[in-house]
Amino acid sequence: MENIIIGIDLGGTNLRIGAVTPDNKMRAPFVIKSSVIAEAENPIQKICEIIAAYRKENHIQQLDAISIGVPSSVENDKETVICTTNIRDKNGNVVFCHTNIAKKIREYFQVPVFVNNDVNNILLYDVVANHLENQKVVVGIYIGTGVGAAVMIDGHLLEGKNGAELDIGHMPFFGGDVQCSCGKKGCCECYASGWRLQEIRKEFYPDTEIQDMFTKHREEKPLKEFVQACGNVYAIMATIFNPDTIIIGGGVPEMTDFPQKDLEKVINESTGKDVMAYGFDYVYSREFVGKGVIGAAVFARRRLQERK
Ligand SMILES: [Zn+2]
Repeated sequence: MENIIIGIDLGGTNLRIGAVTPDNKMRAPFVIKSSVIAEAENPIQKICEIIAAYRKENHIQQLDAISIGVPSSVENDKETVICTTNIRDKNGNVVFCHTNIAKKIREYFQVPVFVNNDVNNILLYDVVANHLENQKVVVGIYIGTGVGAAVMIDGHLLEGKNGAELDIGHMPFFGGDVQCSCGKKGCCECYASGWRLQEIRKEFYPDTEIQDMFTKHREEKPLKEFVQACGNVYAIMATIFNPDTIIIGGGVPEMTDFPQKDLEKVINESTGKDVMAYGFDYVYSREFVGKGVIGAAVFARRRLQERK
């Protein structure tokens, strides 16, 4: 294989790796447990070994770059991971904390290496998959176990001063007093997240499997309120950004029988009037395990293009 970018999606549970062609097709997808890295004596060395074995097995001669998505904010050097709170070693310690993971991998393979927040990569995938490249503002909000967001303005991903922008799962909800995993109280993901959905299941529907929650209970008050809370998050972002398109994704909205129309109604009613005077399109991110891998490659190709 030639002109390949090796894309890696390092999640809390699985590491996915694929060889992505210039037309964004993923070849030879491969998955291993993230714990293999988290519990290694030298996690970055372990990543190098996994990539080297993958490259050899798939006969990738010409490698353009390696691009890694991580479940953490990443500094604007696009090399340094800020903090992977859900990738921990056997002792419960965070594996990557203000860690430059690109440098060693670049030295090992002698190719450009990029690191990016996984939600940014998934937004890039969704933008390419839905042909949204020429829109002025695209906002992606992904509700999984937590809540992630990414914003593209004039073709560029929004970056804060340090790369820690858009941590919207930890926006304060006024009056919220539920204890959040981050140490604060009343964060948005205490009310609108897969974590919250599990809490609702435990409290109201202990006999329902999580995947059947919307199929069985979407018309009942606890889930109506849950969808309201999710809609609030989208409405806040729509009001701030006046987007062309809002991408709705993540494990929760991708569940069977998730009430898309109810969510859109909440968003439309709660978004600022000036924004709603112009409106925006809704795009639903489709369930596909290769999103993070291909998105990582899209990110790398854009960066390589900028260098030329
Ligand atoms: Zn929080």
